[in-house]
This record gives sequence, C-alpha cells and structure tokens, in this order.
Amino acid sequence: MDLFEYQGKQYFSRFDIPVSPGGVADTVEEALRVAARVGFPVVVKAQVKVGGRGKAGGVKLAATEDEVRTHAGAILGLDIKGHVVKRLWVEHASDIEKEYYASFTLDRPNKVHLGMLSAQGGVEIEVVAEENPDAIAMLQIDPLVGLDVATARRWVAEAGLDEAARAQAAELLVKLYTCYVEGDCDLAEVNPLILTPDGRVHALDAKVTLDENAAFRHPEWEEYRATETEDPREKMAKEKGLNYIGLDGTVGIIANGAGLAMSTLDVVNQVGGSAANFLDIGGGANADVMAAALEVINTDPKVKSIFVNIFGGITRVDEVAKGVVEALSRVTISAPIVLRLDGTNAVEGRAILEAHLNDRLLTEPTMLDAARRAVAFANQ
Ligand code: GDP
Ligand code: MN
Repeated sequence: MDLFEYQGKQYFSRFDIPVSPGGVADTVEEALRVAARVGFPVVVKAQVKVGGRGKAGGVKLAATEDEVRTHAGAILGLDIKGHVVKRLWVEHASDIEKEYYASFTLDRPNKVHLGMLSAQGGVEIEVVAEENPDAIAMLQIDPLVGLDVATARRWVAEAGLDEAARAQAAELLVKLYTCYVEGDCDLAEVNPLILTPDGRVHALDAKVTLDENAAFRHPEWEEYRATETEDPREKMAKEKGLNYIGLDGTVGIIANGAGLAMSTLDVVNQVGGSAANFLDIGGGANADVMAAALEVINTDPKVKSIFVNIFGGITRVDEVAKGVVEALSRVTISAPIVLRLDGTNAVEGRAILEAHLNDRLLTEPTMLDAARRAVAFANQ
C-alpha cells in the first residue's frame, strides 16, 4: 500500500525523522488556516500517489495569504498524471542549501536490504541512475546485522554529502532504516533530503510503501486504508489476491498471464465489444483462484458475458477446467461464460467440461471465435 506524502511524513515522525511542521487541507480555507498556524512562507503540495508533482505544478511556494489562496485554488482539482488532487499538504517552507536523495528498499536477488544515497537529490533518481550512476552510493545491509551509525557515517562520506550535513544525515539514515524495518515498509524514500543554510538536515518529501504482508501486526494501518480511493471490485479482488483492474465495458475477462489478458482486451475491442475488467489469474491457477475470479466479476452489474481465455503452459488446462467446474458449484454466475482453452492438456480440459456445457457455458476453439461469441452475448 502506497501512502500519501502527508501520511509518509506522519509515519516518519513516529520514528523521530525530522520533517517540516504542516497540516492537511481539503479546501482553500483550510489551507489558509494551516498556513497561519505553521507560519509563512509555506509550501502548498498536491497529495497524489504519483511522483513528479513539482514539475506538474503541484508544489508551490506561498509567501502571503493571497498566494496560498491562488496556489491552493489552482492545485485542488488539478490532474497530475491522471490523479485528481483532492487534498493538500501545507507546510512551513524550508530554505534549501542542498538536496540529497535517500531510500531503503529490498534487494531481492541478494536477500539483503538496499540503501541508496546520493548528493544529487531533488531530481528523479532514475535520471541520476542513468546519467550519473556513480553519484549513487549503494549500501547492502544484512538484515541480521542492521545499520549502525558508524556504517552510516562512512556511507554519507562515500556519497559525498556536504561536511555540514554528514553527522545529522547519518543519524537520520539510521532512523529511516528503523522506520523501514520496524515500520514494515517495502520502500522508504526521501527525495529531497535537505540541508538548510543554517545547517539542519530533514526530510522534505516522503514516499512510503507499506508491506501488505505485515498488515496483521499494524492495526493502525486501517487509517491509511480508509483514504484509499479504491474501486470496490478492485478492493475485493485484492482481498482475494487477484491481479484485477476494473474497466467500463460489459465483457468480463479472465486470462492467465498479463500479456494474454491484454491481448484478450484487444481482441474483444476488435470484434466490437468492450472489456469490463482486466484479470490475470497468473500461472498455475487452481479452483480457488478461478472461483475467486468468477466471484469478483460476478459482483459487477455491468458484466453481460464472461470470456475465459486460457493458454496452458505451466498452467495445465485440465486443472483450469476442474477449477471452472468447482467454481460453478460454489458461485452462481449470472452472466453466460465463453471459454477458450488451449495449450497444455487442452483435450483433457475440454473433456472435463464436456458434461457441464450448455447454452450459457460454452467453449470455442479460438480466441477470436470466443471473443465474437462473448461480445454477441454482451450486445444482446
Ligand atoms: P515531487 O516533485 O512530487 O517529488 O515533490 P517534492 O515534495 O519532492 O517537491 C518538489 C520540489 O519542490 C523539491 O525538490 C524542492 O525543490 C521544492 N520544494 C518542496 N518543498 C520546498 C520548500 O519547503 N522550500 C523550497 N524552497 N522548495 C521546496
Ligand atoms: Mn520528491
């Protein structure tokens, strides 16, 4: 689960990582109240879960009430890469001497935590990585050993952070690491981490992704979940561990593999239909997964037909067919289902389904035929 910047900063605060004083605002009036409380100048920041807000006009400095009014008014409702701004974070503006970058994430292949630190912050780290990879100091951290201040000190020196920032930055990095580990983050990123002209180091931005697998030990994450503006279908799919994206059409789609699911959407479009969703059941799907997939699609009142498109590779078609049969015994599906089953054990799979076929559960030999049939049902 990704957090908004303001939530990330609240999370940082719990681990004693310094951030600027501020508050959230959903209206221009609230923005004015927060500004008065934290003191001018302030920075007015769009709260959307996407990077590059600064470049998109979603981060503005305001020295007066009038400027707060202007900027808050302009940023609320702004569309940033498809995310419409509904909430602002207003904080006391900082003077910036230097902008750095710091993050912790998991280095899966090496089974360690990975710290990334750069004296070139403020810009997207991907850009730094491409144009000047040496400017990023990577630190692999054995999770059993952790990160101590001495190591962090060597790290900030290696990254070339200014002398004036090093001691505080080292201390902050240890806290950020603690936040990342004890706070069960998949990612804890600060960009920019700043040094002020009067020699203070603090986090000016916060990007935090929480590890959903650890949700059971964080009842307090409920408040973050409450602010997730999620499609109810997507929410249900997530609860069932499915890769689902809700769309606006009438043909429900289930496929194995993201590539095939996308092709299925295209083919449905090509023959004059429109997809109600994207759903990839992944490799090796069993009856439970299939039942869950049908169940989620079944809750969507827009769905007029369901197209199950399986090309067996690692996934065996007979297993999928068993899954469909079992799913049908568990869930009453309201829309007709058209199946295209091909690949590994397709013959066995079709044989399993044979006895269950009727005019609302049928198979077609090819993807195109199945798409036509499903679209015909949907357009009836
Ligand atoms: P992002 O573009 O979504 O990553 O948003 P950030 O929170 O990182 O802000 C973008 C940029 O705005 C930063 O890199 C800073 O240069 C600038 N900025 C943000 N807050 C302040 C502030 O308090 N004072 C000043 N002078 N600039 C700021
Ligand atoms: Mn940033």
